[in-house]
Amino acid sequence: MDPPIGQVLSRYPFLHFDLQEYLSSIKHAEQLQEDFKLFLHFLDARTPASMPEDEIKHRILDDLASNLSTDVPAYSALSKRRSLQQLPIIDKTIVTRQPRAFVNGSLPLGQLWCHSTFGTSGVPILVAYSAAFYFHQLLLAVPKIVARATRAVSAPETLSYAHITDASGVSRVLQYPVRSAAPAFRLIYDQSHRGSLSRLLDLLRELRPSALTSRPELYAAITSDDMMPRRLGHYRPQFVISSGSLLDKPLRRRLADVFQARVIDAYAMSEFGLIASQCPKERLHIDNTNHVAECLNEEGRPALGEGELTLSSTANRAMPLLRYRTGDQGKVSTAPCECGSPGQTLESLTGRRVPCFTLETGQLYCPTQFNGIFSRFPVFQFQIRQLGDKSLEVLIEPDPGVTDVDDLMTGISRHVQQCMPCPMRIKVASARFNYDNTKFLRYRVLS
Ligand SMILES: [Zn+2]
Repeated sequence: MDPPIGQVLSRYPFLHFDLQEYLSSIKHAEQLQEDFKLFLHFLDARTPASMPEDEIKHRILDDLASNLSTDVPAYSALSKRRSLQQLPIIDKTIVTRQPRAFVNGSLPLGQLWCHSTFGTSGVPILVAYSAAFYFHQLLLAVPKIVARATRAVSAPETLSYAHITDASGVSRVLQYPVRSAAPAFRLIYDQSHRGSLSRLLDLLRELRPSALTSRPELYAAITSDDMMPRRLGHYRPQFVISSGSLLDKPLRRRLADVFQARVIDAYAMSEFGLIASQCPKERLHIDNTNHVAECLNEEGRPALGEGELTLSSTANRAMPLLRYRTGDQGKVSTAPCECGSPGQTLESLTGRRVPCFTLETGQLYCPTQFNGIFSRFPVFQFQIRQLGDKSLEVLIEPDPGVTDVDDLMTGISRHVQQCMPCPMRIKVASARFNYDNTKFLRYRVLS
């Protein structure tokens, strides 16, 4: 039996609870239940009356014709398009330069939730979420992933899980807006503090969430520590969910071994939330209740084999993105899957892999901790590389208005050192990056 929220908060006073957010979520409780029901319907519908990918294409075109072409400046000339293929393709750089052109002007600004992309492969983009979409991603993403993988979750509020992140913020508890819901947690692993990992593991042992979710590079850092799995005691989650970048086979095996849990791979982006997750047959199914995918060649035409994955969705009414180039390569299939779920699957997805840096102790360090450089310093672009002697080289392209680059480099060097749990040799240099190169990687390990 999961402890009620009050008991959790009195026992762990350092966990935050956003009462205002919770009260807002109650207004969306009914919609959340409906959304989850629709998801379950298609999950089990072996012969649905209509295919989910066709339904969503129609919905997108209807939304465009009825309101989005007037409410979203970027789509003002697109109301009469009869198929998705007639819409222009959107490049990330356009959204980076003109984010407001994609924001729905009919929604009051005070009701939007803003979130920045991580910027691991490019300049961060500020994404606006409608309240409905925000709560959908906050509260349904993990239950959907576990339901897809196991068919065992029939009500999202029954699943207790912990999302482990290194992003700035506070550890907090989330409550699904229905009675006797299992709490969910967002727990921070701050790698710059030596005691942070043992505190995280102690908490997991006490809270005992059924599922863990995090990014592969953070799992790699956590499981490289010698105190794992001794510190977990008898606690083992049932599911370990990985999303955000590419999960390679050795790490997948290591996660299964350390946690003795089922590992589930999922594909998500800040711009769209949860995009796809694995079924019992380990194929990645696109969540066609929210998105539709295309795979395009370099000319922007449907690719015969692998191509660039392009996504369309109007689920986020605040900032709907249509035919948006993800920068990831893969193949979209509608061939039936043995698991019985209809809809699109993703074959051979080649997402980005974020390499970890190695500390002198041999422990791995997840470099996405440095993503905060964008919000702290006036830099347009940066890259951090670990060289063969374990030192770090930070290349920065300052914002055009910066006059004292030396001062900026000193500040960044100090910040990078503060983010590390032990002293490192750090060299900062100025650079110009090639923006035609779509394979830009923010973090690299050069041996
Ligand atoms: Zn399947």
